[in-house]
Amino acid sequence: MLTGRSDVLIVGAGPAGAAAGTFLARMGLSVTCVDRARFPRDKTCGDAVSSAGLEIAAAMGAELSQLPHATVRAAAAILPDGERIVRHYGAHPGAIVPRLALDDLLRQRMQAAGVTLHEGVAVRTLLRDGDHFVGAEGPALRWQARVVLAADGPGSVAWAALGREYPRGAQLGVAATVYLRNAQPQEPGVSEHYFERDLPCGYGWLFPPVEGLANVGVYQRADRYQRRGGQLRALLRDFLARHPDRFAAAEPVGPVRSWALPLCLHTWPPGGAPGLLLCGDAGSFVDPLSGEGIWQALRTGQLAAEYAGAALLAGRPVDAAVVRRFRLACARAVSWPSLVRAGIQEGMRVLIDRHLDQRPPVRKLLQWGYGGGRSELSRAV
Ligand SMILES: Cc1cc2nc3c(=O)[nH]c(=O)nc-3n(C[C@H](O)[C@H](O)[C@H](O)COP(=O)(O)OP(=O)(O)OC[C@H]3O[C@@H](n4cnc5c(N)ncnc54)[C@H](O)[C@@H]3O)c2cc1C
Repeated sequence: MLTGRSDVLIVGAGPAGAAAGTFLARMGLSVTCVDRARFPRDKTCGDAVSSAGLEIAAAMGAELSQLPHATVRAAAAILPDGERIVRHYGAHPGAIVPRLALDDLLRQRMQAAGVTLHEGVAVRTLLRDGDHFVGAEGPALRWQARVVLAADGPGSVAWAALGREYPRGAQLGVAATVYLRNAQPQEPGVSEHYFERDLPCGYGWLFPPVEGLANVGVYQRADRYQRRGGQLRALLRDFLARHPDRFAAAEPVGPVRSWALPLCLHTWPPGGAPGLLLCGDAGSFVDPLSGEGIWQALRTGQLAAEYAGAALLAGRPVDAAVVRRFRLACARAVSWPSLVRAGIQEGMRVLIDRHLDQRPPVRKLLQWGYGGGRSELSRAV
């Protein structure tokens, strides 16, 4: 039985937990983190990290050069008739970084900053004293802390503690992914996002390969997915079959894997209660349009460190006022931009569903909106 006490207890050592832990430990606070997995552990993901995510990782001391990766200098949106609209990232490229390696390096940086990590230790419930959260327990754990950070992904233990139901319908994304050998986008360094009538409120992707393996998958908002009665594996199979030019010679390496994405469709993030802050997927911060959640996890972890750390260093509790300020910061950074992007997603769905995307003014609008006015239009091979 692992027992003890620290200033901060972090549940989950993924990107959100690792970012929070690194920045809190650098402030000189005592930080304990528990994760039910043992590292290196994989996470079902598309492995795409935006330049903003890479920046926070670098601030944690995790440089891209230390990791197997492919640079992403542009993204192509491919419309149902094969037209490509390309968005160039210029001086701010993203990267494809397999999560097995990325998360392990982030975990190492967190430990190097001074966080004590206990692997293979699961949390089952959170402990509270009145309305204030004061620790966590599990089959082999009883830990007390001045603040608990829930960074344990979809189905977080904090959801049960706060009486929050598992998200459904438009609040949830679903995605399936597989690594393929002998598959690559039309142009090196350009990730491909296929917007198709069969994938309303979602898309299929083909990312630049890393060490010969391309991450390929389908993402869809759960309400659309359920409405069509589809199965993720079938959606992925059909997506691959629709693009023989890309996938006919491809061979899967490893299984098809699927997982949930708690989407950020709230004006006010479900960010916690006194003594408890939620970050990353545990706080439902995944971008509804792109399914991106790594930057959001790193950023909300960083914000949790900022707000909880400042209170603890001043000798104050993480009370309702601190929680409110943290939630406002998360709303500004993630939730409000995500709501705009959810609107864009709905617009794209209507345009594609009604074949309006083929009309020249609409295409110009898409070119301008996606490509930032600097895009090129070219027909996919
Ligand atoms: C198929 C798919 C593709 C995706 N593609 C992309 C992409 O290309 N780019 C992108 O930015 N985002 C992508 N996402 C989203 C991204 O994977 C997540 O948003 C991101 O991993 C969230 O990080 P996190 O730290 O919040 O949670 P996680 O990475 O899930 O980490 C949570 C950690 O908590 C631990 N844990 C869970 N429960 C407990 C418990 N009870 N006790 C102790 N430990 C616990 C887990 O072992 C895990 O290590 C994708 C998601 C899916 C499903």
